[in-house]
Amino acid sequence: MKRPASEKRRHVLGLSGGKDSAALAVYLRDRLPQMEYYFCDTRKELSETYEYLERLEAFLGKPIIRLNAARGFDHWLNVYRGYLPSSRMRWCTKKLKIEPFEYYVGDEPTLSYIAIRADEDRPGYISTKPNITPVYPFRTEGIVESDVYRILEECGLGLPEYYQWRTRSGCYFCFFQRKIEWVGLLERHPDLFVEAMRYEKTDQATGVRYTWSQAESLAELSRPERVEEIKRRHQLESERASRRLRGRKLYQVFADVVDEEGGDDPCFACHT
Ligand code: SF4
Repeated sequence: MKRPASEKRRHVLGLSGGKDSAALAVYLRDRLPQMEYYFCDTRKELSETYEYLERLEAFLGKPIIRLNAARGFDHWLNVYRGYLPSSRMRWCTKKLKIEPFEYYVGDEPTLSYIAIRADEDRPGYISTKPNITPVYPFRTEGIVESDVYRILEECGLGLPEYYQWRTRSGCYFCFFQRKIEWVGLLERHPDLFVEAMRYEKTDQATGVRYTWSQAESLAELSRPERVEEIKRRHQLESERASRRLRGRKLYQVFADVVDEEGGDDPCFACHT
């Protein structure tokens, strides 16, 4: 019997280590048992992310394929002449996430499931390869952020631990972090903060500073008086948000405040 065209397609779902893609995997586990789960590992993620992926893997009952770029971040940093990636020059996403994913998929017709929610107004990453078709189940099913929290609570997985101080998955030095998240890294993973500091430098010839966080180096950001200032501001915003968002849980208030602190939209190849 000839199989319908849809059966010939692969179904793949990229996990970022964040809540939305994890919830989508949970949501689709029994609906699409043929799903292939993958995670593009930059090897620069937080230990909490790796731990969460292991728990998710146990829940899904099948392996999450780890895709590694053939060469890591430091190799590409050299290729880009020490130019740190930024929201305008996001070479890290291309080299460490998109290219390994497209290589993994190859040329077979593939449905790529993307965890953009119905309450988000963003396209997410869309591959330019013609054999890869994006699918947005949360958007078509009307699933919003509160549903994501519910899905993760009901299945017993909960949220990754870093949600207490950071709103997204991704590399520990990700430039999309807000100031309060850098303070979180400093306090929770001082060794990684020092590692992130080592990447920053000033071009002696031009005087141009390469820093992760806008307008200040991590050395400047980590000065005690600056840390206190960032915390004080965040506390004030949190108190306002708590009044406004009465009844919501602490991590939801934190996420809301961090989002309001502004900055660029997150990278949807990395943070879903
Ligand atoms: S998490 Fe941030 S630093 Fe890491 S690859 Fe994605 S955009 Fe780049």
